[in-house]
Amino acid sequence: MAKVLILGGGFGGVVTAERLAKELGAEHQITLVSRSRRFVFYPALVRLAFGKCRREDVSFDLREAMLSRRVNFIEAEVARIAPFERSVTIAHGEVEGQLPYDYLIFALGRRLATERITGFYENAHHLLNVEKALQFGKAITEFHEGRAVIGQCLGARLPVPIYETAFALSRLLEERGERERAKITIVSPDPPDVQLGDSDVTIALRNALDAHGIEFLPGFPIDSVAPGVAVTNKNQSIKFNLLMLLPPFKGSSATSYLGITNEDAYINVDSAMRVVGVERMYAAGDCVNFSGPKMGHMAVRQGEVAAANVAAEIGGHDPSSTYIHEMRLIIDEGGSDSLYVHKDIWTDESASVGKGRFWSWAKHVQEKYFETRHF
Ligand SMILES: Cc1cc2nc3c(=O)[nH]c(=O)nc-3n(C[C@H](O)[C@H](O)[C@H](O)COP(=O)(O)OP(=O)(O)OC[C@H]3O[C@@H](n4cnc5c(N)ncnc54)[C@H](O)[C@@H]3O)c2cc1C
Repeated sequence: MAKVLILGGGFGGVVTAERLAKELGAEHQITLVSRSRRFVFYPALVRLAFGKCRREDVSFDLREAMLSRRVNFIEAEVARIAPFERSVTIAHGEVEGQLPYDYLIFALGRRLATERITGFYENAHHLLNVEKALQFGKAITEFHEGRAVIGQCLGARLPVPIYETAFALSRLLEERGERERAKITIVSPDPPDVQLGDSDVTIALRNALDAHGIEFLPGFPIDSVAPGVAVTNKNQSIKFNLLMLLPPFKGSSATSYLGITNEDAYINVDSAMRVVGVERMYAAGDCVNFSGPKMGHMAVRQGEVAAANVAAEIGGHDPSSTYIHEMRLIIDEGGSDSLYVHKDIWTDESASVGKGRFWSWAKHVQEKYFETRHF
């Protein structure tokens, strides 16, 4: 009998647990630990902020979904892991103390490094969890004129909600007859092709931004925020009446001291999703040290690969499933300028880009599909 422990109830952890429950016999024990029993479907948080869906549409009960698949669920806070002793320390929650394991899959996602941006908490909105998205939504209802600044700090690695927020705000102001009274500016440390990786994507995106009169300001790495003004590390400043800013991301602090991560605490893994230098430990999702943006569909695929390889190891076989680092994203503009981008990040091949209203529709369907399949 093998004890398999999965840390994190997000895209990576949930898919890993489901796949293992299918592949392993009932004699093996599968346990999922996460700090909350709610799974959050993050791609819908922009729509939540703009009042296009409700809180109950974007989060689902993990415990029930896991129990029906014979996965034990523990609601608890992971403090640290000891991969050489094969145990995990739980700080508080439904259990406390050490949890031993035979195989570990680490999927605790990203940490928001807000401490790197002075004044972030006091002066900026973000939408990286349900509560913050709702607070930002309230600020949107109170914004009628002036400048809205929407941006990401160096290391944020999540371009989609930036563009979607700018498009949604533009459409909302148009509907209210207030578009002429407001300026919308996107600020970014890089031009779009650095994160989205292709000039065709950049051109399509720039055209869509132009069509909405949205200004794009690259080379603008904000590192402090005061009331009404954001400042870069080169002392450039921009005034705002509404600010939505994605802070830098880092990997989880639960592994940062073990020598298995890069300088931003992202875990080093090989293409089988095995943690480099540690036996019987895998990682999946935003926590891993792969280049490019951090995306849910990557976490899903990485979880599938990790689960297949853990099942192979338990069965006495060599891990043979491998991950290919592809980016597949939809930027929902709300209409015919919506974009679909597909790119293999590990090769130099150019991206394929689709444009049209279909992709806006497809993004909504994606959410319903995920919910039906997993909850
Ligand atoms: C606003 C927004 C829009 C997005 N849009 C898209 C999109 O359009 N397409 C796309 O593909 N991706 C999108 N993403 C990215 C996607 O949501 C992430 O890449 C994905 O959630 C990563 O999955 P994960 O399992 O690695 O981490 P997460 O989903 O963050 O899950 C990590 C889990 O671990 C738990 N956890 C963390 N630390 C601890 C701890 N110490 N103890 C116990 N539990 C802990 C968390 O509570 C969480 O349940 C978006 C993200 C946001 C925020």
